[in-house]
Amino acid sequence: MNCKIPSWITTFKTTARSAMCVSLLLLQPDVSHAEAVVKERKVLVIGIDGCRPDALRKATAPELAGLAEKGAFSYTTQNLPLRLVDVETSSGPGWASMLCGAFPDKHGWLDDVRRRRFNGNNPHFFARLKAHNEKLKTASIIVWRPIMNMVTAADVNESFVDDKGVEDRALDVLGTLNPDAMFIHLDAVDHAGHHSGFSAENPEYLGAIEAVDGRVGRIIAAIRKRPTFVKEDWLFIVSSDHGGWGNGHNSHRNVVPDIRRVFLIVSGDTAMRGEIEGQTYIIDVAATALVHMGVKLDPAWNLDGIPAGLKGFPSPAVSRPNEPAATELIRVKK
Ligand SMILES: [Zn+2]
Repeated sequence: MNCKIPSWITTFKTTARSAMCVSLLLLQPDVSHAEAVVKERKVLVIGIDGCRPDALRKATAPELAGLAEKGAFSYTTQNLPLRLVDVETSSGPGWASMLCGAFPDKHGWLDDVRRRRFNGNNPHFFARLKAHNEKLKTASIIVWRPIMNMVTAADVNESFVDDKGVEDRALDVLGTLNPDAMFIHLDAVDHAGHHSGFSAENPEYLGAIEAVDGRVGRIIAAIRKRPTFVKEDWLFIVSSDHGGWGNGHNSHRNVVPDIRRVFLIVSGDTAMRGEIEGQTYIIDVAATALVHMGVKLDPAWNLDGIPAGLKGFPSPAVSRPNEPAATELIRVKK
Protein backbone atom coordinates (compact mmCIF):
# COMPACT_ATOMS: atom_id res chain seq x y z
CA MET A 1 0.00 0.00 0.00
CA ASN A 2 1.35 3.41 -0.87
CA CYS A 3 1.69 5.78 2.04
CA LYS A 4 1.28 9.44 1.11
CA ILE A 5 3.95 11.54 2.80
CA PRO A 6 3.55 15.32 3.17
CA SER A 7 5.84 17.25 0.85
CA TRP A 8 7.76 18.93 3.65
CA ILE A 9 8.80 15.56 4.99
CA THR A 10 10.24 14.55 1.63
CA THR A 11 12.47 17.63 1.71
CA PHE A 12 13.78 16.83 5.16
CA LYS A 13 17.54 16.48 5.34
CA THR A 14 18.34 12.80 5.47
CA THR A 15 20.61 12.87 8.47
CA ALA A 16 20.19 9.94 10.82
CA ARG A 17 18.76 12.24 13.47
CA SER A 18 16.18 13.81 11.18
CA ALA A 19 15.19 10.40 9.83
CA MET A 20 14.58 9.23 13.39
CA CYS A 21 12.43 12.30 14.13
CA VAL A 22 10.32 11.66 11.03
CA SER A 23 9.85 8.02 11.99
CA LEU A 24 8.67 8.96 15.44
CA LEU A 25 6.37 11.59 14.00
CA LEU A 26 4.75 9.16 11.59
CA LEU A 27 4.30 6.53 14.26
CA GLN A 28 2.53 8.94 16.59
CA PRO A 29 -1.21 9.38 16.49
CA ASP A 30 -2.23 12.98 15.82
CA VAL A 31 -1.56 13.95 19.42
CA SER A 32 -1.89 17.70 18.93
CA HIS A 33 -5.33 17.26 17.35
CA ALA A 34 -6.58 14.84 19.99
CA GLU A 35 -5.47 17.13 22.80
CA ALA A 36 -7.04 20.17 21.18
CA VAL A 37 -10.43 18.52 21.61
CA VAL A 38 -10.10 17.82 25.31
CA LYS A 39 -7.63 20.39 26.61
CA GLU A 40 -7.70 24.15 26.63
CA ARG A 41 -4.63 25.64 24.96
CA LYS A 42 -2.78 28.30 26.93
CA VAL A 43 0.57 30.02 26.51
CA LEU A 44 3.01 31.81 28.79
CA VAL A 45 5.78 33.80 27.12
CA ILE A 46 8.63 34.71 29.46
CA GLY A 47 10.99 37.47 28.34
CA ILE A 48 14.29 37.72 30.21
CA ASP A 49 15.87 41.04 29.25
CA GLY A 50 19.48 40.94 28.08
CA CYS A 51 20.15 37.28 28.84
CA ARG A 52 23.10 35.71 27.04
CA PRO A 53 22.74 31.98 26.33
CA ASP A 54 26.29 31.13 27.44
CA ALA A 55 25.58 32.71 30.84
CA LEU A 56 22.18 30.99 31.05
CA ARG A 57 23.88 27.62 30.57
CA LYS A 58 26.60 28.42 33.09
CA ALA A 59 24.25 29.71 35.80
CA THR A 60 22.55 27.38 38.24
CA ALA A 61 19.09 27.75 36.73
CA PRO A 62 17.27 24.44 37.26
CA GLU A 63 13.82 25.72 36.32
CA LEU A 64 14.87 27.07 32.92
CA ALA A 65 17.13 24.05 32.34
CA GLY A 66 14.16 21.82 33.21
CA LEU A 67 11.94 23.57 30.66
CA ALA A 68 14.61 23.08 27.99
CA GLU A 69 15.10 19.45 28.98
CA LYS A 70 11.39 18.72 28.67
CA GLY A 71 11.02 20.70 25.46
CA ALA A 72 12.78 22.18 22.46
CA PHE A 73 15.61 24.68 22.68
CA SER A 74 18.15 26.70 20.73
CA TYR A 75 21.11 28.55 22.18
CA THR A 76 22.01 30.18 18.84
CA THR A 77 18.79 32.16 18.32
CA GLN A 78 19.34 35.60 16.76
CA ASN A 79 17.49 38.76 17.69
CA LEU A 80 17.70 40.52 14.32
CA PRO A 81 18.85 39.52 10.83
CA LEU A 82 22.19 40.79 9.54
CA ARG A 83 20.47 42.60 6.66
CA LEU A 84 19.21 45.11 9.28
CA VAL A 85 22.77 46.09 10.03
CA ASP A 86 21.91 49.63 11.14
CA VAL A 87 19.05 48.76 13.49
CA GLU A 88 20.08 49.21 17.11
CA THR A 89 20.21 46.04 19.18
CA SER A 90 18.25 47.78 21.92
CA SER A 91 15.24 46.58 23.85
CA GLY A 92 12.52 48.24 21.74
CA PRO A 93 13.25 46.57 18.39
CA GLY A 94 13.85 43.29 20.26
CA TRP A 95 10.62 43.09 22.23
CA ALA A 96 8.57 44.56 19.39
CA SER A 97 9.89 41.92 16.97
CA MET A 98 9.39 39.07 19.42
CA LEU A 99 5.83 40.07 20.29
CA CYS A 100 4.53 40.76 16.78
CA GLY A 101 6.48 38.13 14.82
CA ALA A 102 8.04 40.46 12.27
CA PHE A 103 11.33 42.37 12.00
CA PRO A 104 11.64 46.15 12.54
CA ASP A 105 11.65 47.00 8.83
CA LYS A 106 8.06 45.73 8.78
CA HIS A 107 6.65 46.80 12.15
CA GLY A 108 8.48 50.15 12.27
CA TRP A 109 9.85 50.08 15.84
CA LEU A 110 13.41 50.89 14.82
CA ASP A 111 14.99 52.16 18.02
CA ASP A 112 14.23 53.29 21.53
CA VAL A 113 14.37 57.03 20.87
CA ARG A 114 12.59 58.09 17.72
CA ARG A 115 9.96 55.47 16.98
CA ARG A 116 8.37 54.08 20.10
CA ARG A 117 5.36 52.80 18.22
CA PHE A 118 4.30 50.25 15.63
CA ASN A 119 3.38 51.45 12.14
CA GLY A 120 0.15 49.42 12.31
CA ASN A 121 1.20 46.67 9.91
CA ASN A 122 2.17 44.03 12.49
CA PRO A 123 0.31 44.11 15.81
CA HIS A 124 1.20 42.31 19.04
CA PHE A 125 0.25 38.61 18.92
CA PHE A 126 -2.48 39.28 21.51
CA ALA A 127 -4.35 41.20 18.79
CA ARG A 128 -4.15 38.18 16.46
CA LEU A 129 -5.44 36.00 19.28
CA LYS A 130 -8.38 38.27 20.04
CA ALA A 131 -9.24 38.44 16.34
CA HIS A 132 -9.23 34.63 16.32
CA ASN A 133 -11.40 34.38 19.44
CA GLU A 134 -12.47 37.52 21.26
CA LYS A 135 -13.17 35.54 24.43
CA LEU A 136 -9.51 34.69 24.98
CA LYS A 137 -8.02 36.52 27.96
CA THR A 138 -4.59 38.14 27.64
CA ALA A 139 -2.21 39.70 30.14
CA SER A 140 1.08 41.59 29.72
CA ILE A 141 2.99 42.20 32.96
CA ILE A 142 6.32 43.92 32.53
CA VAL A 143 9.08 46.10 33.99
CA TRP A 144 10.33 48.02 30.93
CA ARG A 145 7.50 50.49 30.37
CA PRO A 146 7.69 51.03 26.57
CA ILE A 147 6.47 47.43 26.14
CA MET A 148 3.09 48.72 27.33
CA ASN A 149 2.90 50.75 24.09
CA MET A 150 3.32 47.57 22.03
CA VAL A 151 0.23 45.92 23.54
CA THR A 152 -3.04 46.56 21.73
CA ALA A 153 -5.40 43.83 22.93
CA ALA A 154 -4.83 43.01 26.58
CA ASP A 155 -7.16 42.47 29.50
CA VAL A 156 -4.19 43.32 31.72
CA ASN A 157 -1.43 45.67 30.51
CA GLU A 158 0.63 46.75 33.51
CA SER A 159 4.19 47.63 34.42
CA PHE A 160 6.03 47.33 37.74
CA VAL A 161 9.24 48.81 39.06
CA ASP A 162 11.00 45.47 39.51
CA ASP A 163 10.82 41.73 38.86
CA LYS A 164 9.23 41.03 42.24
CA GLY A 165 6.29 43.24 41.26
CA VAL A 166 5.93 41.30 38.01
CA GLU A 167 6.09 37.94 39.79
CA ASP A 168 3.52 38.97 42.42
CA ARG A 169 1.12 40.35 39.81
CA ALA A 170 1.55 37.30 37.55
CA LEU A 171 0.66 35.00 40.45
CA ASP A 172 -2.35 37.19 41.22
CA VAL A 173 -3.55 37.29 37.58
CA LEU A 174 -3.24 33.50 37.26
CA GLY A 175 -5.66 33.17 40.14
CA THR A 176 -8.14 35.89 39.20
CA LEU A 177 -8.23 36.41 35.41
CA ASN A 178 -7.86 32.82 34.12
CA PRO A 179 -5.61 34.07 31.29
CA ASP A 180 -5.21 32.19 28.02
CA ALA A 181 -2.06 34.04 26.97
CA MET A 182 0.39 35.82 29.24
CA PHE A 183 3.60 37.72 28.61
CA ILE A 184 5.88 38.52 31.50
CA HIS A 185 9.05 40.59 31.23
CA LEU A 186 11.82 40.26 33.83
CA ASP A 187 14.50 42.95 33.84
CA ALA A 188 17.11 42.16 36.52
CA VAL A 189 19.49 40.28 34.20
CA ASP A 190 19.85 43.25 31.84
CA HIS A 191 20.29 45.54 34.84
CA ALA A 192 23.14 43.38 36.17
CA GLY A 193 24.77 43.28 32.74
CA HIS A 194 24.78 47.07 32.44
CA HIS A 195 26.06 47.39 36.00
CA SER A 196 28.94 44.92 35.96
CA GLY A 197 29.17 43.22 32.58
CA PHE A 198 27.27 40.90 30.27
CA SER A 199 29.47 37.86 30.75
CA ALA A 200 29.26 34.21 31.71
CA GLU A 201 32.25 34.94 33.97
CA ASN A 202 30.47 37.68 35.95
CA PRO A 203 29.02 36.34 39.25
CA GLU A 204 26.58 39.27 39.54
CA TYR A 205 25.18 38.59 36.06
CA LEU A 206 24.91 34.85 36.78
CA GLY A 207 23.28 35.62 40.13
CA ALA A 208 20.62 37.73 38.41
CA ILE A 209 19.84 34.83 36.05
CA GLU A 210 19.54 32.53 39.07
CA ALA A 211 17.12 34.95 40.79
CA VAL A 212 15.00 35.13 37.63
CA ASP A 213 15.07 31.33 37.45
CA GLY A 214 13.49 31.22 40.91
CA ARG A 215 10.70 33.58 39.81
CA VAL A 216 10.04 31.51 36.68
CA GLY A 217 9.89 28.39 38.85
CA ARG A 218 7.36 29.90 41.24
CA ILE A 219 5.12 31.13 38.41
CA ILE A 220 5.17 27.77 36.62
CA ALA A 221 4.55 25.93 39.90
CA ALA A 222 1.48 28.13 40.41
CA ILE A 223 0.26 27.21 36.92
CA ARG A 224 0.72 23.50 37.64
CA LYS A 225 -1.26 23.89 40.86
CA ARG A 226 -4.26 25.44 39.12
CA PRO A 227 -7.37 23.36 39.86
CA THR A 228 -8.06 23.30 36.12
CA PHE A 229 -4.48 22.38 35.12
CA VAL A 230 -5.31 18.80 34.05
CA LYS A 231 -7.74 20.21 31.51
CA GLU A 232 -5.21 22.72 30.20
CA ASP A 233 -2.41 22.44 27.66
CA TRP A 234 0.19 25.08 28.50
CA LEU A 235 3.10 26.02 26.28
CA PHE A 236 5.99 27.85 27.95
CA ILE A 237 8.18 29.96 25.66
CA VAL A 238 11.26 31.70 27.03
CA SER A 239 13.57 34.07 25.15
CA SER A 240 15.44 37.38 25.35
CA ASP A 241 15.45 40.64 23.40
CA HIS A 242 19.26 40.83 23.01
CA GLY A 243 22.48 39.62 24.61
CA GLY A 244 25.25 41.99 25.65
CA TRP A 245 28.95 42.80 25.28
CA GLY A 246 31.03 44.59 27.87
CA ASN A 247 28.56 46.71 29.82
CA GLY A 248 26.04 47.27 27.07
CA HIS A 249 24.27 46.23 23.91
CA ASN A 250 23.74 49.51 22.02
CA SER A 251 25.79 51.65 19.62
CA HIS A 252 27.66 48.84 17.87
CA ARG A 253 25.26 48.49 14.91
CA ASN A 254 23.71 45.07 14.55
CA VAL A 255 26.88 43.04 14.05
CA VAL A 256 28.24 41.89 17.43
CA PRO A 257 27.59 38.15 17.91
CA ASP A 258 27.44 38.30 21.71
CA ILE A 259 24.72 40.95 21.45
CA ARG A 260 22.79 39.33 18.61
CA ARG A 261 22.80 35.82 20.07
CA VAL A 262 20.02 34.88 22.50
CA PHE A 263 18.12 31.63 23.14
CA LEU A 264 14.71 30.09 22.63
CA ILE A 265 13.03 27.51 24.87
CA VAL A 266 9.67 25.99 23.84
CA SER A 267 8.32 23.61 26.45
CA GLY A 268 5.05 21.72 26.91
CA ASP A 269 3.13 18.76 25.56
CA THR A 270 2.93 20.26 22.06
CA ALA A 271 6.70 20.95 21.99
CA MET A 272 9.22 18.63 20.40
CA ARG A 273 12.18 17.42 22.41
CA GLY A 274 15.79 18.42 21.92
CA GLU A 275 17.73 21.04 20.04
CA ILE A 276 15.84 22.88 17.31
CA GLU A 277 17.53 22.33 13.96
CA GLY A 278 18.20 25.41 11.85
CA GLN A 279 18.34 29.13 12.54
CA THR A 280 15.78 30.50 15.00
CA TYR A 281 14.99 34.18 15.60
CA ILE A 282 13.07 35.92 18.36
CA ILE A 283 10.27 36.61 15.86
CA ASP A 284 9.48 32.88 16.06
CA VAL A 285 8.09 33.42 19.57
CA ALA A 286 4.86 35.09 18.38
CA ALA A 287 4.36 32.62 15.52
CA THR A 288 4.89 29.64 17.83
CA ALA A 289 2.51 31.01 20.46
CA LEU A 290 -0.20 31.68 17.87
CA VAL A 291 0.09 28.24 16.28
CA HIS A 292 -0.07 26.54 19.68
CA MET A 293 -3.25 28.50 20.39
CA GLY A 294 -4.82 27.15 17.21
CA VAL A 295 -4.45 30.29 15.10
CA LYS A 296 -3.74 29.67 11.42
CA LEU A 297 -0.97 32.00 10.26
CA ASP A 298 -2.34 33.98 7.32
CA PRO A 299 0.29 34.61 4.60
CA ALA A 300 -1.33 38.04 4.16
CA TRP A 301 0.05 39.02 7.58
CA ASN A 302 3.52 38.80 6.06
CA LEU A 303 5.09 37.53 9.29
CA ASP A 304 8.80 36.77 9.42
CA GLY A 305 8.36 34.30 12.29
CA ILE A 306 7.65 30.60 11.87
CA PRO A 307 6.52 28.01 14.40
CA ALA A 308 9.69 26.61 15.99
CA GLY A 309 10.06 23.66 18.33
CA LEU A 310 6.49 22.38 17.94
CA LYS A 311 5.62 18.75 17.20
CA GLY A 312 4.26 18.17 13.72
CA PHE A 313 5.93 21.20 12.13
CA PRO A 314 9.12 21.26 10.07
CA SER A 315 12.19 22.61 11.82
CA PRO A 316 13.64 25.98 10.74
CA ALA A 317 16.35 23.94 8.97
CA VAL A 318 13.59 22.95 6.53
CA SER A 319 11.30 25.97 6.54
CA ARG A 320 14.11 28.56 6.68
CA PRO A 321 16.84 26.73 4.77
CA ASN A 322 18.89 29.61 3.40
CA GLU A 323 19.77 31.41 6.62
CA PRO A 324 23.42 31.38 7.69
CA ALA A 325 24.03 29.51 10.93
CA ALA A 326 24.61 31.85 13.86
CA THR A 327 28.08 30.43 14.42
CA GLU A 328 29.12 31.64 10.96
CA LEU A 329 28.22 35.28 11.54
CA ILE A 330 31.03 37.80 11.72
CA ARG A 331 32.71 38.61 15.00
CA VAL A 332 33.80 42.15 15.84
CA LYS A 333 36.98 42.56 17.83
CA LYS A 334 36.48 44.38 21.13
ZN1 LIG B 1 16.63 44.83 26.69
